[in-house]
Amino acid sequence: MTHDFLSSDAGAALNMGADHCPFIPVFGPPAVTFERGSGVELFSVEGKRYLDFLAGIAVVSLGHANPVVTSAIAEQAATLTHVSNFFANTTATRAAQRVNALMESCGAGAGQVFFCNSGAEANEAAIKLARKFGGRGRHRIVTALGSFHGRTLGALAMTGQPAKHEVFQPMPEGFKYCEFGNLDSLAAQIDDTVAAVVLEPIQGEGGVVPAPEGYLSAVRHLCTARGVLLIVDEVQTGFCRTGRWFGFEHEGIAPDAVTLAKGMGNGMPIGALWARRDIAAVLRPGDHGSTYSGTAIATAAVLAVIDEMERIDAPRLAREKGARLAAAVAAIAGVDHVRGLGLLLGARLADGVDARGVAQAALDEGLIVNAVTADTIRLAPPLVVSDSEIDEAVGILAKVIG
Ligand SMILES: *Cc1c(COP(=O)(O)O)cnc(C)c1O
Repeated sequence: MTHDFLSSDAGAALNMGADHCPFIPVFGPPAVTFERGSGVELFSVEGKRYLDFLAGIAVVSLGHANPVVTSAIAEQAATLTHVSNFFANTTATRAAQRVNALMESCGAGAGQVFFCNSGAEANEAAIKLARKFGGRGRHRIVTALGSFHGRTLGALAMTGQPAKHEVFQPMPEGFKYCEFGNLDSLAAQIDDTVAAVVLEPIQGEGGVVPAPEGYLSAVRHLCTARGVLLIVDEVQTGFCRTGRWFGFEHEGIAPDAVTLAKGMGNGMPIGALWARRDIAAVLRPGDHGSTYSGTAIATAAVLAVIDEMERIDAPRLAREKGARLAAAVAAIAGVDHVRGLGLLLGARLADGVDARGVAQAALDEGLIVNAVTADTIRLAPPLVVSDSEIDEAVGILAKVIG
């Protein structure tokens, strides 16, 4: 198979056309090649300006090339990047303290952090924590159909999308699935072989599907009653995206463990497993690790992100800008409804309107959005998006929908 996806001069200069693509083709042909970004704007190699209403899939929450994050990374790079986990470094230590303090102030209680490099790795760590907590014979994990937890084998098995498993069978065993939002369906899966339940507060990749009101708190009660861990996957919903620091706060629950990534580093690759202290204590030296756990360079970005999100009151921005964007998009003819929280929104298109076609037409007009499913457009701009950028994006969407 050949992809003739970059036929422009710039593409030819990068030698990416047809038989010259340097990447293993797991992602499909890239639509645009970008050179630089600033805030909500991205600029292609051809110099065309785009409004980024996807933010690198809910990653660049403080905007592209955010000066605070950039200078923190640059200063750290000039000071110390990495020392291995035989030693500590001051930056990772402070970042772990900040994450723990955030979790405590958000109602999750006192805990500890394991840093890693991605959402999938955070979930892999959560699987091992759950298995060691449960012990042999009580090692199973229940997750929801339609969920997304990552692409590594364990995280993939955790992902309740059988179609994604198929060509990689056999999957690691020990995972069971329930219907998302249905407490009875979950309760029916919990038996004495189950160590943990893992859920997203809003299914992001599954189509921006929020848990029904009351669901997570009912799940919390059920897990407590059955002695099963409740692990919340906040990889997409965390770090202010939904209008709170973490998605679980909307239900006022205290999870036993939380997985984090995406918005945590504003583009610096970093993830984390946070767990309450008594649960974290089941893992002992040698049980888990990563060469890159808590590098000074990646955790410098985390510290800058937390500082900056606090300074600008990012949860409030997500709520206010999200309300403006959701209302304006819902008013577009051809949009059936808008769901989600804060600035993690899904615009369900009217029957017969193809989301992929809309995303492509928007891109041609200089707006980046994502067809998260065949009928839904995901909107997740940086939380620092301005009112005029929202209005400009809505204008483009109104033009290309219907
Ligand atoms: C993106 C995502 C992951 C996987 O994160 P990676 O960094 O791509 O490995 C896991 N869980 C959720 C909820 C996600 O949205």
